[in-house]
Amino acid sequence: MPDNNLALDSAELREWRSKIEIANRNNIFCHCRTCDAEWIDSSFEAVCSYCSSTDIEHISCWQFPDE
Ligand SMILES: [Zn+2]
Repeated sequence: MPDNNLALDSAELREWRSKIEIANRNNIFCHCRTCDAEWIDSSFEAVCSYCSSTDIEHISCWQFPDE
């Protein structure tokens, strides 16, 4: 059995998963309550780029339920 390959695979898998976790953390769905704009941002401090409103609804993408 090529043990080295197995170790590499699980290390790659771990790296992959951490990248996905980081991506999920940074994918914040934003909805502007003022002008109804929707976009994906990486910050909960996002300001609407359309109307400069700070009245933004933030939803992390990983919170969306599987359908
Ligand atoms: Zn807006």
